[in-house]
Amino acid sequence: MNYLHSPRILIFCLPMNSSNMNIITFGCRLNACESDLIKDFALELGIIDFILINTCAVTAEAERKLLQTIRKLYNEDPNVKIILTGCASELNPTRYIKMNGVVGIISNKTKLSRSEYLKYASSKSISDIPDPKKVRGFLQIQNGCDQKCTYCVVRLTRGSNISFPEDEIVAQAQSLLKKGYKEIVLTGVNISSYGHDMNPKRNLAFIVRHLLKNVPSLTRLRLSSLDPADIDNDLMEVIKSEERLLPHIHESIQSGDNIILKRMMRRHNREQLIEINEKILSLRPDVVFGADIIVGFPTETDEMFLNTQKLLTEAKLSLLHIFQFSPRPRTPASLMPPIEKKVLQNRAKELKKFAHEILFKKLSEQVGKNVIVLAEDHVNAKTNSFLRVKSLEKLETGREYLFYCESVDKNAIIGRPVEKK
Ligand code: SF4
Repeated sequence: MNYLHSPRILIFCLPMNSSNMNIITFGCRLNACESDLIKDFALELGIIDFILINTCAVTAEAERKLLQTIRKLYNEDPNVKIILTGCASELNPTRYIKMNGVVGIISNKTKLSRSEYLKYASSKSISDIPDPKKVRGFLQIQNGCDQKCTYCVVRLTRGSNISFPEDEIVAQAQSLLKKGYKEIVLTGVNISSYGHDMNPKRNLAFIVRHLLKNVPSLTRLRLSSLDPADIDNDLMEVIKSEERLLPHIHESIQSGDNIILKRMMRRHNREQLIEINEKILSLRPDVVFGADIIVGFPTETDEMFLNTQKLLTEAKLSLLHIFQFSPRPRTPASLMPPIEKKVLQNRAKELKKFAHEILFKKLSEQVGKNVIVLAEDHVNAKTNSFLRVKSLEKLETGREYLFYCESVDKNAIIGRPVEKK
């Protein structure tokens, strides 16, 4: 998923004023994107006095935090009315519906259907919703996944790959730009499978070209997580030739050991990945690679772990999301022999430390250079390749700058704007 393939436990709280529906979002960017659309229904239908939680099941930790949140909301207000949707409630609705405060569950399949929300609508209209910062908007281009990665629970909760028609995607992009977003991130459960279910068959390169051609005002387009097995020559050609496609490739790599990759039922191996990344860099040298890595998959030996560690430098990965393996219900990996918890924790710690060193090196390479950044607020910005930037001078949110990189701290470039774009 996107970031299924980045199963971070992000908790987004899309705050509305206290009389309106709050939406709490766990998990991937796809969930965040969907919450944004649900928020539109909520505003339109005047849904008040409910809290909607868009749940995530990608790790055991995500579910633990969800349970904790529901309990906390109920303890704070025993009259709270919570509606759940998303992967955790999809996987185990009976568990969640019994919880205090939970009044309804909306299926993952219908969570973007406006009619699902009608029963929660009130007659009141909502007009005073604060407008959140509009910098980076997420555009969902597909849902579901046809692969069978053995650790993944999301394919069970989201069903098979369904790609959205190109006209709808163009309309969505136009709507996001109209709302004021400066950059669009293509998102989905597995965006690199875009169009594989269509007749005639399409691919991700097709939709990127189509979007850029039909939305000329879209100047900043970013891809979310890609399955390396789907990075074909056509996509590489797009990465090379479309300047408006930002030079940031995030890959769902998961392991650097070929046996573990087989046991995960991934479709790439470490040699192929190294070759893909070398080729991309030869076509577009400013690309920065990110990756999701799972540490401690069942049966992972020290040597296998070391192969993953070595891959980080061999495949020139810089922006890493490292996760400890946690068995998810009804997945084949949950039946495989687990590794000892302490070993798993130590490996995760070691790899995170190594990832920090790699990132620091990448950030340091920018010192002395001018780069283009997009301001996320008065201080924080991101380079086109998604490196974090902190500004010593006040920035204008949503504005692009040419930015001089003076120094680095542990996870960001420090510098100041040179000129507004
Ligand atoms: S099955 Fe694999 S490719 Fe599909 S969503 Fe899960 S991790 Fe991604």
